[in-house]
Amino acid sequence: MNIQEHVSLRPYNTFGFSHYARYFTSIGDTDSLQAAFSWAHARNLHTLVLGGGSNILLRGDFHGLVIHIAIKGIGVWKEDDSYVWVKCGAGEIWHQVVLHCIAQGWGGLENLSLIPGTVGAAPMQNIGAYGVEIKDVFDHLEAFEIATGELRTFDGPTCKFGYRESIFKHEAKGKYIISSVTFRLTKHPEFNTTYGALQETLEKMNVHTLNLKAVSDAVIHIRQSKLPDPAQLGNAGSFFKNPVVSTRQFEELKNTYPDLPSYPQANGVKVPAGWLIEACGWKGKRMGAVGVHHQQALVLVNYGEGTGEEVEALARSIQESVKEKFGIDLQPEVNFI
Ligand SMILES: Cc1cc2nc3c(=O)[nH]c(=O)nc-3n(C[C@H](O)[C@H](O)[C@H](O)COP(=O)(O)OP(=O)(O)OC[C@H]3O[C@@H](n4cnc5c(N)ncnc54)[C@H](O)[C@@H]3O)c2cc1C
Repeated sequence: MNIQEHVSLRPYNTFGFSHYARYFTSIGDTDSLQAAFSWAHARNLHTLVLGGGSNILLRGDFHGLVIHIAIKGIGVWKEDDSYVWVKCGAGEIWHQVVLHCIAQGWGGLENLSLIPGTVGAAPMQNIGAYGVEIKDVFDHLEAFEIATGELRTFDGPTCKFGYRESIFKHEAKGKYIISSVTFRLTKHPEFNTTYGALQETLEKMNVHTLNLKAVSDAVIHIRQSKLPDPAQLGNAGSFFKNPVVSTRQFEELKNTYPDLPSYPQANGVKVPAGWLIEACGWKGKRMGAVGVHHQQALVLVNYGEGTGEEVEALARSIQESVKEKFGIDLQPEVNFI
């Protein structure tokens, strides 16, 4: 285990904030994980586990040990005539895994193309895009239990997946480090192209016979045209979750705002947070070195020299506006550190 001191976290958070870690280590296997936690424990230090840093808001230097997960490996765990179970190390780059599976002809991950980050962080918030969430292809994961040093297996129901939710954001928060995730992918893909602009984009791309690569290319095309690339403009994707309101509250809102889009859910009606933020006049607004993206009001950006504190202040102002105008509490999707 190699512990470095005073390491810049700029390459490890997609907002691109220049905060420092007091100690930093990159971990390639679960034995080293055990050693890293023992090392931090012996010195009474806090720990912060990081993958790609694409879903965090760093609000200052981290005075403990940052543990960067770099556990690699992609392999077939088992297969039958219909399915293949693919086991991936937590430190694998998500999009590389998606491309690998597409190249093998295994279906299920194509709609999740180009989501930044690592495999290990994906179950944390049950990543999703274009009508698919990882819970749809999830089989099980292995996680290192910090208290005991043992590896535990979690199946789908144990993970309690929901919209951008899992057990790891609630009762299991801070207790486990995900070391591998196994997906059940299909050898006979069925495509889900009903969501958003996907069908339209496929038509524009002259795709007449659907295939995994074409769907992935279409998703990549849409994402690149809609979302800022963190390498060019610091951001963490959608900053807030889309709120779900009661049917009654939705009907009242719809009377006042007939254009309000809606997506019925089992527990109410989901409304797009980006629409609410835009309706409050925030789209394209800049506060110092941070702001709200000019094309996508759900994305907060760092223009270069901004800080996590500035983004936090901007986020709070947005929450207040939305609460005042619509009576809705926006919850961040991004993890505040
Ligand atoms: C441009 C852009 C677009 C995005 N689009 C989407 C999208 O379409 N859908 C979507 O769902 N998300 C999206 N995201 C959010 C982000 O990509 C995902 O949440 C991703 O899974 C985060 O992975 P990461 O490795 O970067 O996690 P990090 O940001 O490093 O970590 C996120 C959280 O998980 C914890 N964590 C990380 N790895 C582990 C591990 N192995 N074990 C335990 N805890 C861990 C961290 O401590 C932290 O709390 C987007 C982000 C960006 C920047």
